[in-house]
Formats: sequence, structure tokens, C-alpha cells
Amino acid sequence: MQIFETLKPEETLKLGRKLGEHVKAGTVISLTGDLGVGKTVFTQGFAQGLGITECVNSPTFTIVQVYDDGRLPFYHFDVYRIADAEELDEIGYAEYFYGEGVCVVEWANRISEIMPKDHMVVMIEKDLEKGFDYRKITISGGGSDEDFGD
Ligand code: ADP
Ligand code: MG
Repeated sequence: MQIFETLKPEETLKLGRKLGEHVKAGTVISLTGDLGVGKTVFTQGFAQGLGITECVNSPTFTIVQVYDDGRLPFYHFDVYRIADAEELDEIGYAEYFYGEGVCVVEWANRISEIMPKDHMVVMIEKDLEKGFDYRKITISGGGSDEDFGD
């Protein structure tokens, strides 16, 4: 487990970028944190790290957004609005989770029963006592120790 602290959005972007540069094919990441905490900022950095040049936003109206122009295929899931894991069966999630690309799943706690056993967790938290822009970012599991190597 590794804990990072950032004091502005650019630092969170940079951390995401670093993970994206090192992440291995087949990695599935659960990205958790309250609304407005910086999940999209982190994901934008992550996509940059993969060499993706397309603009990455929250996949608000689709469950998964596919980005194919980077080092590895990148599948960005937002499962906030799904009723249950069956909806993910319908879009064939296993092809993404167990394929050669990398997945970031926002609100993965809603589908914990179908998350791969050894997934990575990126948890972003605020601590208002440390300032409005302070974020604590905890990264664990799923090979995160190797994937952060230089
Ligand atoms: P989420 O996707 O989790 O709902 P966003 O990434 O869309 O959140 O928004 C995060 C907001 O917080 C942005 O407006 C960003 O500028 C701001 N922010 C302030 N400090 C930080 C920080 N240290 N890391 C990331 N975002 C930050
Ligand atoms: Mg977002």
C-alpha cells in the first residue's frame, strides 16, 4: 500500500500519469472517492500516461468509454447509475476486465461481486483540516507496488 498527498489538481494529474505510464495490461482499478474529490482529474492523468490524446471525461451516459489510441486499450467505466451487476453482463464486461487492456472503474463498490479478485484500489479522500485542495490518495493491491516502479 502506498499513500500520496497532493495539494493541487496538477499533482493529482501527475500521480495518475505516473501510474498510467507503468500500469500493466490486464489491470483493473477501482477508483473511489466522493463527488468532486478528483477521480476525473486522476483518470485524465492516467490516460495521458498511457499516451492517450483523446479528451477523457466522466462517462456519464454510457457505462464504459473506450480509448484505443494509447499504449494499451483503456476502458473507463462509471457504474454509478447501474441498478445491478446484471447490466454489466449485458455490455459484456468480462471482455474488458479479463482482456489485454486496462480498466478504471468508478463506483466499483456497486459491483464488488464481479470485480476481479486481485484488482487495484485507488482511493481519493479530502481532509478539510489540511486545506480545501488537499487530497490523500491511497493505492493498494493489484500489482500497484510494481506498477509504480521507475
Ligand atoms: P470527481 O470526478 O471525483 O467527481 P473531478 O475530478 O471532476 O471530481 O473534480 C475535482 C475538483 O477538485 C476539480 O475542480 C479540481 O480542480 C479540484 N481539486 C482541488 N484540489 C485538488 C487536488 N489536490 N486533486 C484533484 N483535484 C483537486
Ligand atoms: Mg468524475
